[in-house]
Formats: sequence, C-alpha cells, structure tokens
Amino acid sequence: MKLWLDGGLQEVEAARVSVFDHGLTVGDGVFETVKAVGGRPFALTRHLDRLTRSARGLGLPDPDQDEVRRACTAVLGANPMPLGRLRITYTGGHGPLGSDRGDQGPTLVVALGETARRPDTTAVVTVPWTRNERGAVTGLKTTSYAENVVALARAHEHGASEALFGNTVGQLCEGTGSNVFVVLDGEIHTPPLASGCLAGITRALAVEWAGARETDLPLDVLQRADEVFLTSTLRDVQAVHRVDDRDLPGAPGPVTAKAMRIFEERAGDDQDP
Ligand code: PLP
Repeated sequence: MKLWLDGGLQEVEAARVSVFDHGLTVGDGVFETVKAVGGRPFALTRHLDRLTRSARGLGLPDPDQDEVRRACTAVLGANPMPLGRLRITYTGGHGPLGSDRGDQGPTLVVALGETARRPDTTAVVTVPWTRNERGAVTGLKTTSYAENVVALARAHEHGASEALFGNTVGQLCEGTGSNVFVVLDGEIHTPPLASGCLAGITRALAVEWAGARETDLPLDVLQRADEVFLTSTLRDVQAVHRVDDRDLPGAPGPVTAKAMRIFEERAGDDQDP
C-alpha cells in the first residue's frame, strides 16, 4: 500500500511524519475525504476548492492544487481497488510544542483506504452537545474531530450509525460526518450554512439536483418530519429509519427514494461535477 508524502509515493509502513507535526499536537490541519469509484475520484474539483477554503480559514498557505491532483492520481494508480476513500490531510507541519506554528511549511499526506457501499437506511440519535455556529473554525473541515468522535461513540452505544447536532440557538445543524435533510409536506429542507454545518459537497449536489431548500429548522423538526435523510461523500443519500425513539417505518419514503435515484443516475454521469 502506497501513500503520498513529501512530494512522492512512499510505502505506508515506511512513511514518517514528525511527532511534533501540528496536525498531531494541536489539530492544526484540514482534510478532505474523496470517494474513488473504479480508481477515479468523484467531485475532486469541489473537494480541492473546499480544502483551499478550509486552509485559508486556518491561515495556512494555499495547498498546491496541482500537486494534490497529481498525488491523488498517483495513489489511486498505485493501489487499485473498486471503491476507495482518498484521505487528503494538510497540516501546519512540524512546529514548537505550543500553538505557534513552526516555519518548516505544511505537511501534505494523501492516502487511500478501501470502503464499502453504505446500507440504504440507518438509525440516528440526537446528542445534547451543540455545534457553535459562530466559532473561529465553524464550517472549516479541520482535523480537530474529537467532538465528532465522542458524538459518534454515543450513536454507536444506541445502535445508531450517526449522531446529529443542534446549534447554540436550538436549530438543527448536521451530523458528525454528514448533512441532514428533512421532508415536510413533500418538500426537502436542509439547514443553511449559517446553522454552523459544513458545506457538504453531497449536500450541494442534493440542493442542485433534488431541489432541496435551505431553511432554518428547529431541532425538534426531527420528531415530526415525514422523512429524514443524510448526505455525505461515503453515504451519498442515506435514508433514516429511526431518530432517537421515533421510528420512520417504510424508509426510504418516496421523496428520499427519488433523491437517491437522481443521485445514482447523475453521479454516475460525471466523475467531477
Ligand atoms: N458534515 C461534516 C461534519 C462532515 O465531516 C462531512 C463529511 O465528512 C459532511 C458534513 C458531509 O460532507 P461531504 O458531502 O462533502 O462528504
């Protein structure tokens, strides 16, 4: 298995990053997860744009998009697999043992792992912790995922595969690794970016392709929505069959099923929409 580090391919076992890399010591880094179908990355341009936005948000130098593209191609070529997840990690690099950055420049790692198609439906739980819709790193895809790790563990304890957060003003926000959609009277709604959610790439495609609207939604909308679904790179569109103690029998409902179909058809057409 090979990954990209220091400008070239390396064996995973041999690859070395400083133990004082700020991605490790203070979570000073950004990342992307890109789906690769048959060795081809999906929506890579959108992922690279978001990587750059996230890096700028942290005050990191812009990643070299040509290098990241070359790295993705090289890693995919070296590790053939039918369905993979590329992980692009870009950090503040080696630095002092504090929050100030060093001057050694950023670290770029592109690695690939195998992944499986997700089930069509899943259970979710809401968690009592909130997303801060006005924080310094809100909306950036940073490597500081500890809050998501804790919430996801809570979901697993309850037999669910995803945990959903509200924000500090009681509105629905997003999951630990997904955006959330609800169907009300036949219309699809998703929280706006101002709720504090990540600008999910699958979310944007669902807004464009399935006509979802961005709407402020109270967290308890989950208790009355006709249908609920999640979107993410590795899920595409995934229907929700249980939210906390509420069952949604028959999931995927008709509107979600249509969104799933649209997504399957259109995402197959173009690898880089
Ligand atoms: N929200 C969070 C916090 C995420 O980590 C992710 C993806 O990993 C998403 C939403 C969904 O984004 P995308 O559709 O770009 O995968």
